[in-house]
Amino acid sequence: MVRSRRIAGAPVRPPEPSRVDLHSHTARSDGTLEPADLARAAAAAGVRILAITDHDNLAAIRELTADATAVPVGLELLAGVEINTVADGDGPRWGGELHVLGLGVDPADDAFEAVLADQRARRRERFVRTLALLRAIGMTVDDRAATLPQDGRDALGRPTIARFLVEKGHAASVEDAFARIVGAGRPGYVPRDGIGPLTAIRAIRAAGGLPVLAHTADAADRRAAIAELRDIGLGGLEVHYRRYDAETVASVAAVAAALRLVPTGGSDFHGDGETYAEAHTSIWVPIEDADALNAALEERAYVAGPAAWTGGLTP
Ligand code: AMP
Ligand code: ZN
Ligand code: FE
Ligand code: FE
Repeated sequence: MVRSRRIAGAPVRPPEPSRVDLHSHTARSDGTLEPADLARAAAAAGVRILAITDHDNLAAIRELTADATAVPVGLELLAGVEINTVADGDGPRWGGELHVLGLGVDPADDAFEAVLADQRARRRERFVRTLALLRAIGMTVDDRAATLPQDGRDALGRPTIARFLVEKGHAASVEDAFARIVGAGRPGYVPRDGIGPLTAIRAIRAAGGLPVLAHTADAADRRAAIAELRDIGLGGLEVHYRRYDAETVASVAAVAAALRLVPTGGSDFHGDGETYAEAHTSIWVPIEDADALNAALEERAYVAGPAAWTGGLTP
């Protein structure tokens, strides 16, 4: 069975600077930028609608909403999360990880926050176990981990550990650390613990958000499983994504259209080895994606910023 789809062609070139980015990370999970710095950088690059989708954490949107001066004029923020689910925990057979974005969730939903808090607790346990494993194989990074602030920055992930490995000289880059040390099946890999896709999709729906299947380049080969996810409550499919060539975008878009899933798109920016402006040159998300998302969320779009998001954009 075809498990992954090789992306052979050149990445899609943006016909104009993208005004939409519906997938991004800050230092409240495993990104490098402070929330206000990401908002500023995105606005400076021409983005008008930004979804911050930290792993298992809504801290960034809460902070930005609480401080209106932190949100540049003209930028509309959409609350989001990314839940890296344990595939085959529940839901259809999948194999490998299944990442679900929750776009437009309500940051004030206590039941959803409880789900996320539990996910973050499991992340911290995995983080500590990974440190111990690295120690056992002679790649100790404990002193770096000890400096981590805990206030709201507890959605720890492997990229954080990968950066420590780079600083300590155990890896040449974050990519290299994943390829040789902390990637699945490598000596520093600790299996994920957490909820499955069915639980994640239901929790996102209950919090008023649209559950979206992230970065699945081989969607066409997994159509039956994605149809099952749709029947469970999946509402969208990430069609536009960095490094996708035109053929991949077309094939994922066809699946979204056939299954009536909202097409979305984003940079998945984390900040390793590049600025937001640099990442933005290789991301193309048409405004139609934001409009389709807005229509799906109807009146339930949780936005922060100077203007309420009414759907379209005035140039
Ligand atoms: P975790 O949720 O802690 O298992 O970390 C997974 C995250 O690491 C993903 O969501 C990506 O952001 C990032 N990631 C996965 N693979 C790579 C890779 N090869 N290089 C850099 N970052 C990666
Ligand atoms: Zn990440
Ligand atoms: Fe992901
Ligand atoms: Fe992501």
